[in-house]
Amino acid sequence: MKISEILKNNEVTISFEVFPPKTDDKYAQVEEAARKIAALHPSFMSVTYGAGGGTSKNTASIASDIQNRYGTPVLAHLTCVSSTRETVARQIALYKSLGIENVLALRGDIPKEGRTVFDYAHAVDLIHDIREQAPDLCLGGACYPEGHVECERPSDDLDHLKEKCDAGLSFLTTQMFFDNNTMYNFLYRAREKGITVPILAGIMPITNRKQVARSVSLSGATIPQRFRMMVDRFGEDPKAMQQVGIIYASEQIIDLISNGVTHIHVYSMNKPAVAAGIMANLSEVLK
Ligand code: FAD
Repeated sequence: MKISEILKNNEVTISFEVFPPKTDDKYAQVEEAARKIAALHPSFMSVTYGAGGGTSKNTASIASDIQNRYGTPVLAHLTCVSSTRETVARQIALYKSLGIENVLALRGDIPKEGRTVFDYAHAVDLIHDIREQAPDLCLGGACYPEGHVECERPSDDLDHLKEKCDAGLSFLTTQMFFDNNTMYNFLYRAREKGITVPILAGIMPITNRKQVARSVSLSGATIPQRFRMMVDRFGEDPKAMQQVGIIYASEQIIDLISNGVTHIHVYSMNKPAVAAGIMANLSEVLK
């Protein structure tokens, strides 16, 4: 099922993300996590695609399982920063052969050692390419409420985002954010810019202390003082920290829905217990 169809009625949706294993011996573990998360009946699930190769080779098979074995609509990610046009064409053909209808078209982070392939400069180039090769795919893209880390001026970032949408995106998913005011401010600016596609709010439940530094360095997201104090108090107690992370994310989601942000995407990080905890906290809210 196309995600554009799922989002079209503006009813509340909740989706979860999984990432493929870094090594083949972890494949069964990830497959099991995906099966358990699918059993929670999210609106759809997404599967990431490692920019530098590595975790990309299993994206298609995990996405196919989610859709074809567990019956959950799926969004397969695709990055282009380290890919040739041939690699992208092959991956698109593979997704299509598996019946995958939704792709999140991304550039990917520039490798620390620098680029070695230069076929695609930005995600917008990938979007144009996919549009030509597979016009029937439903495409989404990434956006950044606090601005993308490489972009110095938020207004430039929004200009680039508008360009991506005009190239043929049906929806956007945000980078993680921990203060909902950031999202409300971003939505206002995006709509002013003429960006009209649905924007899914990306929520990352932080369930252990180490995740704080990792999330900030990956995304540049600001951690509010309120949440820092919670991590300070509970960070050394894994069970308490998991509970705190689930509750903080659930509160963020309830506030978003109350303020008209109806599409929520949870970075569930292959943790069925975290996804289940959020679903349990929202059981009446989602009805
Ligand atoms: P772009 O849209 O190309 O933007 C990257 C930068 O270039 C921005 O600063 C933008 O302002 C600038 N830019 C864009 N177009 C132009 C232009 N025409 N001229 C000048 N500057 C321009 N990474 C993975 O490796 N795998 C994943 O599966 C993955 N999933 C993600 C899912 C979501 C929802 C999000 C928010 C991020 C995800 N990422 C993933 C991370 C993402 O790949 C990085 O944030 C990456 O650095 C940017 O990707 P992008 O598609 O937003 O790039």
